[in-house]
Amino acid sequence: MTALRFRGPVLPDGEVRDLYVVDGRVTYEAVASAELVAEGWIVPGLVDAHCHIGLDANGAVPEDVQEAQALTDRDAGALLLRDCGSAADTSWIHDRDDLPRLIRAGRHIARTRRYIRNYAHEIEPEDLASYVAREAERGDGWVKLVGDWIERDTGDLTPSWPRDALEAAMKAAHDRGARVTAHVFGAHALPDLIGSGIDCIEHGTGLSGDLIDMMAEQGVALVPTVKQLDNFPKYAEAGRDRFPRYADHMEALHASRRETIGAAYDAGVHIYAGTDAGGVLPHGLIGDEVIELATYGLSPEDALGSASWRARTWLGMDDNLAEGTTADFVVYAQNPLDDLGVLKGPGRVVLRGIVVA
Ligand SMILES: [Zn+2]
Repeated sequence: MTALRFRGPVLPDGEVRDLYVVDGRVTYEAVASAELVAEGWIVPGLVDAHCHIGLDANGAVPEDVQEAQALTDRDAGALLLRDCGSAADTSWIHDRDDLPRLIRAGRHIARTRRYIRNYAHEIEPEDLASYVAREAERGDGWVKLVGDWIERDTGDLTPSWPRDALEAAMKAAHDRGARVTAHVFGAHALPDLIGSGIDCIEHGTGLSGDLIDMMAEQGVALVPTVKQLDNFPKYAEAGRDRFPRYADHMEALHASRRETIGAAYDAGVHIYAGTDAGGVLPHGLIGDEVIELATYGLSPEDALGSASWRARTWLGMDDNLAEGTTADFVVYAQNPLDDLGVLKGPGRVVLRGIVVA
């Protein structure tokens, strides 16, 4: 029996412990023969709750590129990825012990001609529930909708789906044990999405007080992808000539983003870290996302927890680094709660009990 030993404060409680890894599992029972691998701050494996494996700016990418994306995330400490929609079938990643754990949402479901080309199933409302049912069965417990997008006739963001189609869609997912999330930039799509029982909102820059209260009350999560929000002025400028209303709208959402996401945090909405890597942004930026979240007013514990222990619990992983749980963790030379910048340089990355980086 080979055993590995790690020593240091184990977050979130910070108690200094000798953590042993035996057969891929955590134990705190001393193993005399264990080799000391590293000392430092031990953090439950990081979570990127919104990324895209298998996508680039033009659509699906081949398996060697998917593999490189997953390895980049892993080496940054992201050991559990919630894939928020991919045009490629990445289910083969489940068979690779050296790649992060992956929770797939299947392929994005968007309204016809109202999303990035080559990404989504582009359909009309009468087909929404059947597509949701199909993606719920193909994925790993999540379905991803595009809740709003630019509509060419009005030249602005408008909701993609009517309320009755959304209600049927939520039922189709929930009946199959899947949760539903939606991309939403603006305000108008939110009341029907939240009102029809969605489980999570991505981006959420259009949230207002009453909707935030509804989210908190219903336990609807928010993954604000704060690094991605920095790109809104770029999207506004790219569309300004043809769609000036949209451009102004995106500028306004950008200007109020800190107030909006900060209000959700203050109201007790559960916030999780997601980089939105894969379409526009590169992989491997989970540390930067946590650092940016802290600038929105999250405490260091909440910012890091949103990318680690709290996110793992939300996504159904076993108890964080408790006796007998899976050995997925990252060791840092310094305390990341004193300086979140530490997250950009993991010391050791341990996945399924193997030191992978
Ligand atoms: Zn995304």
